[in-house]
Amino acid sequence: MRRVRMSAGRSINLALSSRGIYALQQAGLWERMRSIIIPMKGRMMHSVAADLTFQPYGKDEAEVINSISRAELNIALMNAAEEHGAIIHFNRRCTGYDLKTGAIRLRDEETEEVTTQEAGVVIGCDGSASSIRAEMLKLSRFNFSQQYLDYGYKELTIPAGPRGEPLLETHALHIWPRGNHMLIALPNIDGTFACILFLPFEGADSFANLTTSAQVEQFFDSRFPDAVPLMPQLAENYSANPTGSMVTIKCSPWHVEGRALLLGDAVHAIVPFFGQGINCGFEDCTSLVELIDRLGADWAHVFAEFEKERKVNTDAIADMAIENFTEMRDRVADSRFLLRKKVELALEERYPQVFVPKYAMVTFHRIPYSVALARGAVQDRMLAELCGPINRVEDLDWEKADRLIHRDLSPLEIRQ
Ligand SMILES: Cc1cc2nc3c(=O)[nH]c(=O)nc-3n(C[C@H](O)[C@H](O)[C@H](O)COP(=O)(O)OP(=O)(O)OC[C@H]3O[C@@H](n4cnc5c(N)ncnc54)[C@H](O)[C@@H]3O)c2cc1C
Repeated sequence: MRRVRMSAGRSINLALSSRGIYALQQAGLWERMRSIIIPMKGRMMHSVAADLTFQPYGKDEAEVINSISRAELNIALMNAAEEHGAIIHFNRRCTGYDLKTGAIRLRDEETEEVTTQEAGVVIGCDGSASSIRAEMLKLSRFNFSQQYLDYGYKELTIPAGPRGEPLLETHALHIWPRGNHMLIALPNIDGTFACILFLPFEGADSFANLTTSAQVEQFFDSRFPDAVPLMPQLAENYSANPTGSMVTIKCSPWHVEGRALLLGDAVHAIVPFFGQGINCGFEDCTSLVELIDRLGADWAHVFAEFEKERKVNTDAIADMAIENFTEMRDRVADSRFLLRKKVELALEERYPQVFVPKYAMVTFHRIPYSVALARGAVQDRMLAELCGPINRVEDLDWEKADRLIHRDLSPLEIRQ
């Protein structure tokens, strides 16, 4: 990656937020990342008529999410790992793990030579199709579930203008929400935007029905007309880039005694609609490091505690990510939803230690995901009750809000 250009369709941007930032700060890397991120202050919604509506993510300028190129992030992490003495062996595919001896099998992708590597402790961070996890399926009483969405995604690009200038507002995540499908665009530091089209695999509006350039162009003209002039290579990008699938993976145990542990997407892949996959993976690192500091190299103990502490939280963000899919593609354009967002911010302003919107608990704080899920459900009921009778935030019944807040919510321990 540091020598060759990334192939198109594999370079999706990530939205980095508090949990990821905290881990990078702990590793002394955040300051270096600042030059490769673009803060996004809110969602910019594009209607079919090309009307724009900006909706801030948080209560103030500090509550932003950060667009970062996956390639740039990986490069910065590899450089830092090597500076600290890590040795990276490229093009070695792990093809198996021996549950009894703890040895891993590696195939050299260039020579096809297969070798076995003795390993005291293996930490498998090999993504949602983890080969270490595949081997763990052979353990007796290993629990495993994988749930694919009926939707796929495809990366597309909005190039920069003739002088390298961005052609959309830079400090926003752009969304074209259209019910059962949507287009999003995240800014890059070179003035380009990385776009992702989310669409069902099958059905009327689907990847299955968009197979020719003419179909793709016609579809975009009718659904995302203001994006079309910005995407001169739409049809070429569409046919060249792969269609990806999205999966939720849950499993347990996460470890083989003290010999192997799974981490990140390998153990808890989630769908991307809360922008939390990498943030959650980084939070795994924070938590593992804290446990190692506390318990030393007692790996069986560390791994067992790690799973106990994390699984309840990774299950929670997996569920919230699915929920957020409906919110992003359907509700962000809905006036009742916009009212609800305003009421949430008003409640947060009045009760900052007690009422924190679910999006903020997940994105701008390090409140455990399981707490965000549970409090979020209570707050959802409260918001339904408060927003039901009104059409403007000015008409909010503060007496009722006071009563509900004091009855249903206790003060929150907020970790920044
Ligand atoms: C469309 C999309 C948008 C997303 N947007 C966001 C976002 O905005 N914010 C966010 O936080 N998250 C986002 N995510 C999720 C995020 O990409 C993942 O959660 C994150 O990349 C997981 O990191 P990981 O290191 O666990 O796994 P991966 O990033 O998958 O890395 C796994 C690594 O292991 C290597 N590998 C795999 N198999 C083997 C093997 N057998 N042998 C050796 N090496 C192997 C791979 O080459 C890769 O380097 C998004 C995901 C998608 C699909």
